[in-house]
Amino acid sequence: MAGLVIANWKMHGSLALIEEFSQFWRAQSSLKDVDVVVCPPAPYLGSMHQAVEGVLLGAQNCAEQSEGAFTGEVAPKMLRECGCRYVIIGHSERRSLYGETDAQVAVKARLTAGEGLCPVVCVGESREQRESGQQVQVVGEQLLDSLVDVPCEKLVVAYEPVWAIGTGLTATPDQAEVMHGMIRNRLQAHYGAAGGKVPIIYGGSVKPENAGVLFGCENIDGALVGGASLDANSFWQIASAASAGRA
Ligand code: PEP
Repeated sequence: MAGLVIANWKMHGSLALIEEFSQFWRAQSSLKDVDVVVCPPAPYLGSMHQAVEGVLLGAQNCAEQSEGAFTGEVAPKMLRECGCRYVIIGHSERRSLYGETDAQVAVKARLTAGEGLCPVVCVGESREQRESGQQVQVVGEQLLDSLVDVPCEKLVVAYEPVWAIGTGLTATPDQAEVMHGMIRNRLQAHYGAAGGKVPIIYGGSVKPENAGVLFGCENIDGALVGGASLDANSFWQIASAASAGRA
């Protein structure tokens, strides 16, 4: 399968940054064997879609409903009409700051897949859970509870240890590979052979300096990148490392 590198801009960025990305990306040659996705804040989806060639569009969240009186919410169908192909669902910030549960994540992932979009379902343990050795149990349960009735054809799973997000701490390749291997086994047990084809990407302080070694791991199919994705050159280097890792 091709590699997958997804930029999560969170609540950062501007029209000026989109223009910067657009110019930078236009000056590069296209990358082989890697799908590159940028998820800007929702108001910038249209501008990103128009301005930046060679990258796919994604959203950072979606509603739990397909339409109706839900002020401020954005339905997967609307994201699809705006050109999105991917939707990040259940990011740890949504879970911790907005109380999103596994059951809500599963509803959003089902709706997203129902629109023909790729749900990027995020899972990961906290620092306390890792320190007490609970990571396999916690992430295994979170994964299956977040995937109830979610089809796997377009599914992407992002393993993002919470202690590594935005902290500068990265899971070692060994730590990440153990978790990715466990996720791969659970997906295969849940979906059968098709579970072996679900991309499992890593997130947590991925940078140009550590991307290559992470992409060298057997079950790491790409990255979900926060901070480093706000710099076009850094993000390009990470995407290039994913492309090289697939060659
Ligand atoms: C993220 O927001 O999903 C993330 C992985 O952030 P960072 O790369 O900054 O750790």
